[in-house]
Amino acid sequence: MKLYKTEALVLRARDCGRGDKLLILYSRKLGKIKVMAHGAAKPSSRKRGAVQPFTRSVFLIHRGREMDSVSQCEGVEMFSYLREDLEKISYASYLFELVDVFTPEGEACEPLYLLLLTTLRLMATEDLELLTRAFELKAADYAGYHPVLETCANCGGLLVGSLSFSPSLGGVLCGACGAAGTDALPCNRGLVEILKVLWRWHPSRLRQLKVDCQARLQLKNLLHEYLKYHLEQEFKSTDFLNRLKSGPAGTYV
Ligand SMILES: [Zn+2]
Repeated sequence: MKLYKTEALVLRARDCGRGDKLLILYSRKLGKIKVMAHGAAKPSSRKRGAVQPFTRSVFLIHRGREMDSVSQCEGVEMFSYLREDLEKISYASYLFELVDVFTPEGEACEPLYLLLLTTLRLMATEDLELLTRAFELKAADYAGYHPVLETCANCGGLLVGSLSFSPSLGGVLCGACGAAGTDALPCNRGLVEILKVLWRWHPSRLRQLKVDCQARLQLKNLLHEYLKYHLEQEFKSTDFLNRLKSGPAGTYV
C-alpha cells in the first residue's frame, strides 16, 4: 500500500527550506512518526492549518523510500483557546514535549494518545496544574515507570513512620528506609493520597480535588525529579513555565 490514512496530533513542525515542513506527528494508531509536508510552509498552501503544532488532523500519507510524505491533510480540531493564552500553550508545550520524550518512533500507545487529547480539551476550562500532574503520572505509567505508592519502594513494607520519596528507588519510602534514598525528597501521607488520586481518576474529575499551594509545589518538584531521573532529561518547556510563573504571586508551575 502506497498510501495510508491516520489521525494524529502535530507534535512539532520545522521549516526545512523550499516551503517544506518536516512534521513529527503523534498518531493514534501508529505512534510517533516523521513525515515531510511538501509546500506546507507556503502562504498559499492548503495544508498550512492542518500542520500547525497542537492541531489534531487527519493525514493521507504517501509511503516513501526514505521518508513518508503528506499527500493530503485536514485539520479536525485546532484547540484555538490554547493559542490565545500564553500559560495554556506553555502547559500544552510541556505535555507535547513529554510525549515526544516518552515515545520511541513507531511505537503506538492509543491510551496515551487519548489521554493527551482529553487533557488538551480539558485545558479550556480546568485546573492546568492538576491536569499536568495527572498527565505526568499516567504517561509515566504507560511508559512503564509508575512510582510505587502503595508500599515502601525499598523494603516493600507498610508506609509507616516519616515518609519520603526517592526518584532513584522508584517511589515512596517508609520511615526506616528514608536514609536508603540518597535523593529522598520530603513526602507525607496526604501527598501520597493525592498522587494516587491523580493517577486513578479520570482527568475530568480533578476539579473535585482540593490541593493547597504548598502541596502543589511539593507535587511538582517530586514528579519533575522523578521524570528527570527516569527519562534522563531536563525539559525545555518547564524552564519557560517557571519563568512565566515566577514573580511575587507565584513561584510554581
Ligand atoms: Zn521501607
